[in-house]
Amino acid sequence: MQAYRRFDSNHAFFYAYSLAKKHKKELIVYEGLRSDYPWNSERIHKFILEGMYDNQTRADELGINYWPFVESKFNPARGILKEISKDAAAIVTDDFPCFIIPEQITKLAGKVNCPVYAVDSNSLLPLSRFEKEASAARILRIWIHKEFLKGMPKFTKQKWEKEDLQGLHQNSKPPKGFGLPKDLDSFLNTIDFKENVSPATGIKGGRNEALKILKSFVSKKLKDYEIGRSNPNPPNLTATSGLSPYLHFGHIGIEEIFNAVLEISSKGKWNPERLSHQKPGDREHFYSDSTSANHFLDELITWRDIGYLFFWKNKPSRIHLENLPDWVKSNFKKHKSDTREYLYTLEQFESAKTHDELWNAAQIELVKTGRMHNYMRMLWGKKVIEWTKTYEEAFQILEHLNNKYAYDGRNPNSYTGILWCFGLFDRPWFPERNVFGNVRFMSSDSTKKKFKMNTYLEYIDELSGNSDLLFP
Ligand SMILES: Cc1cc2nc3c(=O)[nH]c(=O)nc-3n(C[C@H](O)[C@H](O)[C@H](O)COP(=O)(O)OP(=O)(O)OC[C@H]3O[C@@H](n4cnc5c(N)ncnc54)[C@H](O)[C@@H]3O)c2cc1C
Repeated sequence: MQAYRRFDSNHAFFYAYSLAKKHKKELIVYEGLRSDYPWNSERIHKFILEGMYDNQTRADELGINYWPFVESKFNPARGILKEISKDAAAIVTDDFPCFIIPEQITKLAGKVNCPVYAVDSNSLLPLSRFEKEASAARILRIWIHKEFLKGMPKFTKQKWEKEDLQGLHQNSKPPKGFGLPKDLDSFLNTIDFKENVSPATGIKGGRNEALKILKSFVSKKLKDYEIGRSNPNPPNLTATSGLSPYLHFGHIGIEEIFNAVLEISSKGKWNPERLSHQKPGDREHFYSDSTSANHFLDELITWRDIGYLFFWKNKPSRIHLENLPDWVKSNFKKHKSDTREYLYTLEQFESAKTHDELWNAAQIELVKTGRMHNYMRMLWGKKVIEWTKTYEEAFQILEHLNNKYAYDGRNPNSYTGILWCFGLFDRPWFPERNVFGNVRFMSSDSTKKKFKMNTYLEYIDELSGNSDLLFP
């Protein structure tokens, strides 16, 4: 388990189980956590570990041979996978297209003596179904809808029962050094994290929490999603789900979310016949009778997938400004020497010390809570482009802040979200503007006109008031 860290609704786990049965081999589930990944911090480590404790409990319930490994100074990870796979018939892992994972898979395949299978559980449809990346969401939406109309995607087993796994050989014991820390907080104190970022108050990682959030979202917020989604609000008042960190670490699966949304929005009566055959590409009406459910599923499927597909087809571990479309690059060439009214350093951005109240609020939300409302995220990214000397510097600052603080960072959508601010997946906008040229411009003044921002700003005030440690 590298990216999709759960047993239920997990294509890779199902495939590993099928192979074990076929070859009459033992099934061992290895979930590792190294301590040296980029932007490592107590915040991210704790979230992942909380997920590992949940997986241990579930493995015990189901009788799965689960071998978690957590690296520390006294327990280095070097060579572990090679050692435990020396008699393996195969290794099955996740084909996640971003961050350190593609490189790790390639390295692993070069080191071990058995086949390595990377399973694509990234979305509802396998990403390999699409011939190329999409240049805009409206294009991918049509492709996705057409695929659905050819036949529903094949879902994996949503919930395992103990009996399903009986008959598998489960005899080996892990070598020394495996297992989870007995005391999480004291363990976290022993790791030298590169980034000094504390866990956010009230946010917990893991599958149990993810399922709780999903249940509460579909029963309380989903109906308001269409109208309320864009309105920047505190997490308890926003109509958005807050599920992206759990999707990122694989604590919950997209198929589970899809099912839960359609189940509730159609009062248990949904079936694939309901898909709108009239008009593939129709965001409002394709999946169900509820426009709110359709809007949510469009974000969850089209907008999430467009980022994953972009990485899938380009397969680097990160994406740069060179990946922007030509029309954006020629705009930037023309406007690169434009005068910038404000210029800030990384430190000024990081400590929320710009002249702009809304920008600072968004940054405080990110630092303090590890999340940022989607609308504020767009504004946040656009302004960094406007207030730095070069487009490259803006990209680096955004990548660093997003990946350092956001629970859902280091994800394909981190990069494509940031690059959306630079014009990716968008169209030219007029009039042509300073610094941006024809790339879409956003401003704090128009945000204030569009939304009542008081509740959001009061929430941020509360967050900052509580924080002595916010900006060390
Ligand atoms: C500058 C910038 C940086 C971003 N960085 C990240 C990131 O690091 N990780 C990340 O997952 N998303 C990122 N996004 C996309 C988006 O902001 C988040 O996915 C969304 O805010 C997550 O909140 P939620 O789970 O409450 O979303 P909901 O509105 O409840 O949507 C449900 C799910 O749909 C997907 N989704 C929703 N909106 C988008 C979107 N605009 N683009 C792609 N997928 C979407 C997410 O998986 C999300 O969890 C970024 C966007 C921008 C503009």
